[in-house]
Order: sequence, then structure tokens, then C-alpha cells
Amino acid sequence: MKVFHEKEALRSWRAALRSAGQTLALVPTMGALHRGHLSLIARAQQEADAVLVSIYVNPTQFNRANDLANYPRDPEGDRQLLEASGCDALFEPISLYRPGHASWVEVPSLAGTLCGRTRPGHFRGVATVVTKLFQIAQPEVALFGAKDLQQALLLTQMAADLDMPVRVLTAPTLREADGLAMSSRNRRLTPAQRLAAASIPRALAGAEATLRGGTTTAGTITDAVTRRLVDAGARIDYVSLVRPEDLLEIPPESPATPGLVLAIAAFFGATRLIDNVLLGSSGLDEALAEDP
Ligand code: AMP
Repeated sequence: MKVFHEKEALRSWRAALRSAGQTLALVPTMGALHRGHLSLIARAQQEADAVLVSIYVNPTQFNRANDLANYPRDPEGDRQLLEASGCDALFEPISLYRPGHASWVEVPSLAGTLCGRTRPGHFRGVATVVTKLFQIAQPEVALFGAKDLQQALLLTQMAADLDMPVRVLTAPTLREADGLAMSSRNRRLTPAQRLAAASIPRALAGAEATLRGGTTTAGTITDAVTRRLVDAGARIDYVSLVRPEDLLEIPPESPATPGLVLAIAAFFGATRLIDNVLLGSSGLDEALAEDP
């Protein structure tokens, strides 16, 4: 596996690939890699001749200095996982911003809801750093995870709106045995918080089961999910039922129907976790045993 710290060296490698007629898939990450990331790499390998993974904890997408400082980092472990994954190259820049950086990419229509409400500037940072990565690596394909659904949608919109010559693909969420979505942030949980965090997939599974059981409203679903998370000790950021195409929130009195997305952000201690399911097709209610 090639390792690049400088964008100039990466560009040369990329140019050589192109000369050899090979396509490139990019998997942007912030490191502290887990099997969710590896599933994106495996998908990327099906989509292009070569796979590049980037690891960069992008400061401009953190709205709290504390969160940035405490973000999990594991360069040694990451290197080993990537070598074993068969990915072709790693781009691990020290910084991607030059002094005086002053240009930003924004998708306001998709950044104002869900995570955008409590993380101002987050999606501007994400869209900007991904644009920079696209410019540097010029991949034909880029892979993002459905766990971060708002991010995946927003980047898909951005690439289409701005005629970026890249196919943006979204891959399914990989979960632990108890249903918790794999996340670098799970490393920050204490054993008790890790147990409590399993209330997220259980609450999502409960919503699936309720919907399967018959007619219900958005408010009934979000109230039940909220109660379940609070009972487990979570501090809620949001529990929202939204339309998958534009993340528009469904009013509480409106019917909850299959095909809508149920999205959650909740704190367990200081750790903020997010998850979502496409209602009616997650299979979570069948995969997880209900509470006794
Ligand atoms: P991160 O390193 O958390 O910024 O994530 C890098 C990429 O991996 C993003 O596109 C995420 O959506 C994706 N990802 C994170 N967790 C998972 C997961 N459990 N399953 C699939 N993809 C994931």
C-alpha cells in the first residue's frame, strides 16, 4: 500500500494511474477505522481498479474544540487494517488548508435540518473538505456510508449541482451484533454507556415493529423512540421522521409510513452517536430480539 502525506505525490500517483487507463475509487474517512469503513473499501474495490482511502480529521467540520481534541485516533491500527484490506493507497495529510483559506462549499437546503441544527458549520466543513479531496485525487467514484445519511445526501447533491465528474455512492450501515451502528466514536463509550447505546437500534427496531403493526403517526413513533432512549440514560439531540429525498420533517400528526427515514442523534455521556433507518426495509425488528 502506498502512503502519501503530500498532495503533490498523490497527484503524481493518480496521473500515472490515469495514464495506465485505471479508474480510482476514493473512501474518505477520519480514521479510527472499523469494519464499517472496511465494507466501504470492499465496495470501492468492486467499483474501480484502484482504491484510495483518506484519513484526515477535518478541523473545519467540528463546531466544538473539545470534540475535535477528543476524536479517536489510531494511526497504527488503521495502517494494519488498511494493509489487510488490500486498499491500494492511503492519503494521510498533515493539513489540507493553507494559511488564509477562505473558500467554502455549502448546500444550505440540506444542511439546515437534523445534525445541521446543533452542529452549525459542520456540513460546510464536510462539503469543503470533500471537494478538496475530489480535486486532489480526482476519483471516478467516491463511497460514503448510510449511517451518515445527511452527509451522503448532501455530497450527492453537491457533486451533481457542481458538475463534479465523480459518482457518489452510498453504502449500507454495518452494525455490531446487538445492532449498534459501528462508529469510531463507539471507542469513547464506557462499558456502561456501550450497553446503554444499544437502546438506539432497539428503539429503531421498535419503531419498525410499531409500523408493521398498523397505522400510526409520526409523533407516536418519535415519542416512543425518545422515551426509550431517555429511559436508557441518553440525552436526546433529535429524533426525527423525515423524507429520504430532502430530509423534510414529517409533522407529528401526519401518518408514519414505510419509506420514511427515522433519524436519531443522542449523547451517551459526552459521546454523540447518530443512526437512522429507512422504515419498512431495515429488517432491524427481525434482527434484534425485543426487550424481555
Ligand atoms: P468517518 O471516519 O466516521 O468520517 O466515516 C467515514 C465514512 O465511513 C463515512 O462515509 C461514513 O458514513 C462511513 N461509515 C461510518 N460508519 C459506518 C458504518 N457503521 N457502516 C458503513 N459505513 C460507515
